[in-house]
Amino acid sequence: MCDPDHRAVGQFVGGTRSGGRIAARILMGDERPSYRYCPYCRTELSDRLVFGRTRRVCPSCGFVHFVDPKVGVAVLVEHAGKVLLVRRAVAPSQGAWCLPSGFVESDEDPAEAAARECLEETGLHVRITDLLHVGSYRNDPRGAGIIIFYQAQVVGGWLTPGDDADEARFFASHELPTEIAFRSNREILSRWQRGQLVPCPVIRPQ
Ligand SMILES: [Zn+2]
Repeated sequence: MCDPDHRAVGQFVGGTRSGGRIAARILMGDERPSYRYCPYCRTELSDRLVFGRTRRVCPSCGFVHFVDPKVGVAVLVEHAGKVLLVRRAVAPSQGAWCLPSGFVESDEDPAEAAARECLEETGLHVRITDLLHVGSYRNDPRGAGIIIFYQAQVVGGWLTPGDDADEARFFASHELPTEIAFRSNREILSRWQRGQLVPCPVIRPQ
């Protein structure tokens, strides 16, 4: 789980068009990111131009608040010509369908996170086989992010929805639900329907 303050700052990022505009807003003082005090020494942060942008900096201990994108993972699991989707039980896009997905924890490899999220949301154990796509977004109410799409094979388990999903099932290409959450999911599924995905083998360090 990420801390609420980080998400709040992410919302600030998500509502703007570019980093340059964020800096301009901070300089004008008409909108502020959520971090007001240093999370390490509690000194009030100030705006300084560091590493090419105006950022929140602690004048006491030197902490710099980098508004980093969240890293998410999604997994395309195909079985008998059908693709595994889950129905979202939570906002954003509650009630819409998407690939099993979630955020990467700081101590996880992204491929491990993808397999974990798939297990949590569908009850299925999968083996990550390929990298499909790396995308980014800035229009999510939870903040900007980078999302990594993997392909995986089922190796065990029982299909049971859980965690952020209230339903999980396989869909044939011609019967995909009309309401698919997230632009990147729609693009990946569209390419899957047309047979236009180009898997790249995942290379793991020895
Ligand atoms: Zn400090």
